[in-house]
Amino acid sequence: MTRDPRYDVLFEPVRIGPVEAPNRFYQVPHCNGMGILRPRMVAEMRGVKAEGGWGVVCTEYCSIHPSSDDLPHVYTGLWNQGDIKTHALMTEKVHEHGALAGVELWVGGAGASNLMTREVALGVGSMPTGRGHPYQSRPMDKKDIRDVRRWHRDAALRAKEAGFDIVYVYATHGYLLAQFLSQTHNQRTDEYGGSVENRVRLIRELIEETKDAVGDTCAVAVRMSADDETGTAEQPVSEDRREMFNILAELPDLWDINIHSYKHEMGVSRFVQEGSLEKTMHYVKSITSKPVVTVGRFTSPDTMVSQVRRGIVDFIGAARPSIADPFLPNKIKEGRAEDIRECIGCNICYSGDSLGVPIRCTQNPTMGEEWRRGWHPDRIHPKSSDATVLVVGAGPAGLEATRALGQRGYKVMLAEATTELGGRVAQERQLPGLAEWGRVADHRVQQIQTMPNVDVFLDNHLNAEDALSIGAEHIVVATGSKWRADGFGRYHAQPCPDLGPAEQIFTPNDIFMGRMPEGRAILFDDDHYYMGAVLAEALVAHGVEVCFVTPQNMVSAWGVMTGEQYQTQQNLVQLGVQIITAHGLDAFDGSQARLSCVYSERTRNVEADAVVLVTARTPLDGLYREISGQLESTDSGSVPTLQKIGDCDAPAIIAAAVYAGHRYARELETDVAQAVDVRYDRLLDKD
Ligand code: ADP
Ligand code: SF4
Repeated sequence: MTRDPRYDVLFEPVRIGPVEAPNRFYQVPHCNGMGILRPRMVAEMRGVKAEGGWGVVCTEYCSIHPSSDDLPHVYTGLWNQGDIKTHALMTEKVHEHGALAGVELWVGGAGASNLMTREVALGVGSMPTGRGHPYQSRPMDKKDIRDVRRWHRDAALRAKEAGFDIVYVYATHGYLLAQFLSQTHNQRTDEYGGSVENRVRLIRELIEETKDAVGDTCAVAVRMSADDETGTAEQPVSEDRREMFNILAELPDLWDINIHSYKHEMGVSRFVQEGSLEKTMHYVKSITSKPVVTVGRFTSPDTMVSQVRRGIVDFIGAARPSIADPFLPNKIKEGRAEDIRECIGCNICYSGDSLGVPIRCTQNPTMGEEWRRGWHPDRIHPKSSDATVLVVGAGPAGLEATRALGQRGYKVMLAEATTELGGRVAQERQLPGLAEWGRVADHRVQQIQTMPNVDVFLDNHLNAEDALSIGAEHIVVATGSKWRADGFGRYHAQPCPDLGPAEQIFTPNDIFMGRMPEGRAILFDDDHYYMGAVLAEALVAHGVEVCFVTPQNMVSAWGVMTGEQYQTQQNLVQLGVQIITAHGLDAFDGSQARLSCVYSERTRNVEADAVVLVTARTPLDGLYREISGQLESTDSGSVPTLQKIGDCDAPAIIAAAVYAGHRYARELETDVAQAVDVRYDRLLDKD
C-alpha cells in the first residue's frame, strides 16, 4: 500500500543540533517499571519501538547519582562506568533501526525520597520529599550545587560513551530543576533564587556544561513545562515563565515541552482529550528557532499533520501511543493507518510505574513481553497445523484470541451470544467518559474483518452440544463474568444476608441493560477502580440522588495507580454526590441502609430507595464446565482441547483479558514447556 501524501511531512528528517532524526516521530521519555531492575527487558522494548518507526526513542528518567533514587518507582541510572554497558544494550538496539537514542538525565531533588540508597535528598530548600514519605530534603549549599553540576556532567559523558545521541536536562515534573524554576518552591536568597535570571541559573549552567561535555556529537534537549503553578484559567502562562523561555530560548538543541499539571498531561481519556496540551504550550515555537516536541496522546495522523503544519511542534511526541502501538509510524508510512492500535487512555501502562512492576498495556498485550517471552507487536509465528479453533465469546479475551489466531493463519470460528462484538467494552463504552475504550473492540473487529480464515457468528448462544458439534480441534471459552448482587467482595468475605428486597438491588449489569434505580440510591463501591465512580456519574445524569459509600478512605482508591483518583473524586464532588468513605454496607431493608465504620463499632443509617452494588464478579464458566464434563465422559479418541480465558477464568481488568487471549493464541500448538523457565527467570532479568 502507498502512503497518503498528506502524511509525507511526518517523514521528513529533522536536524537536532549535531544529529538528525530520520522522521518526526519522537518517543518521549516514559517510565515502564523495568529500568535499572530489568535492563534487558527495557532494551528490547525500546528496540521494538525503533523498529516500528519511531525516529527518536528515549529512556525513562535516568538518575545521575544515588541521591536521586525513586524506588519502588523504577527509574534507570548512569551512576558509574558499569551502567554504561547496560545502556549500550538499548542504544545499540535503537541504532540498529536507524533511530536516535535519547537519555533523560534526572536529578530528583525533593521529588525523590531515596528509600533504597538512604542518601539525604537535595532540595532547593528544606521541604517534604516526594510521594508523601515522611522525609525532608536538605537545602542545597554551594558545594551541593557544584556536586550536582559535576554529577550531571559526568553522567552526560557516560551517556555519550553508552551511545546516546540526545542528552536531556530535565527541568520539569516537580523534580530538582523544576523546584529551582518555581516561584513558590524557590525561596533562596542567593544567586540561585529570587529573580527569573537567578532561578534559571542552574538550568542554564547545566545546559552549557552538558553542551561543553558532549555537545560535539550529542544534542542537548531541555524538558520544561510551558506553564507553572501560578497559571489561571484566564492566563494559563505567567509572564515569569515566558521570561524564562526568552532567556533560555536558543541554548538547547531541542525543546521537549510539557505542562505543569501532570494530572492533565498524563490524564486518562475520561478527563483529557487528544491534543489538549496545545492551548498551553502553543507559544513556545514563537520564542525559539530550535525544534519543539510535545505530547498529547496523538493517535490520528491528521491531528499530527495539523500540529506540524500549524507550527505548534516539529516532532510528534508520544509515550502512550507508542506503547499501545510501537508500529504506529510504520503503519502510517506504509499506508495502513487504519491498522493503528489506538491508545484508549486508560493509564494501565502508568500503573506499572506506580506499582514497580513491568509495564502492561490494555491495547498492546506484547508491551513489556518483548524480551521475556519474545513477543513482537506486529509479528506472530505461523500456525502449526490446519486445525480449526472455536472461540466462544467476543469480549476483549475472545476478540484478541481470534485476531491473533487469525494472524497465525488458523481457521477460526468466533461465536457470540449477542448481536454485538466487544463483550464488556461494548457495554462499558456507553458509560460517561469511556467512549474511547471501545477502541479495544473496534481495532480487533476491524482486523478480523480482513481475515478470510475467520468467521464470526453473532446471535449464537452456544451450549456444550453446539460447541462440540462444530468439530473444531480446539475450543477456547471466553464467556466473561457478571457482577454479583449479594454484596460479596473485599469487605464481605461471604454473601451478605441482609440485603433486600431484590427489586431494589442493582448491579452494573442491570445498569448496562437499562434497568436504573430511581430516587435516592446508595452506590456501594467495594471494587475501588473506575466502575463505581463512572456509574455514580451515569446515575446522576439519570436524575438519581447518589450517596457513594466505600470501605476505602477515598473514592476509586486503585485509581491512584493509574493517576486518575484525584480527578475521579473531584468529579463526584462537583456533581454533588454525597461521599461516605471508610464505611461498609451491612444491611438494606428497602428504605434504610446500615453502614458501619471500618475503624470502630459505630454504625449509621442512611435513607435510600435502592442500592447499587459494585463489589466483585462471578466468572461465567458454566459452558466451560459443561463441555469439560462431556469430554471427560467421552471415550472417543479425537477430543478437542479445551481452555478458558479472560474473565470467565478469573475476572480482572481488560488488559488481563486481552493478554489472556493473546497468550492463548501464541501458545496454541506451540511447545511452551521450555519457555516456562524463561518466563519467570526473565521477570527478574536473569539469564
Ligand atoms: P472477557 O473480558 O473475558 O473478554 P466479556 O465479558 O467482555 O469477557 O465477554 C464475554 C462475551 O462472551 C460476551 O460478549 C458474551 O455475550 C459472550 N458469551 C457468554 N456466554 C456465551 C455463550 N454461551 N455463547 C456465545 N457467547 C457467549
Ligand atoms: Fe494507552 Fe491504556 Fe495502553 Fe497506556 S495502557 S498505552 S493508556 S491503551
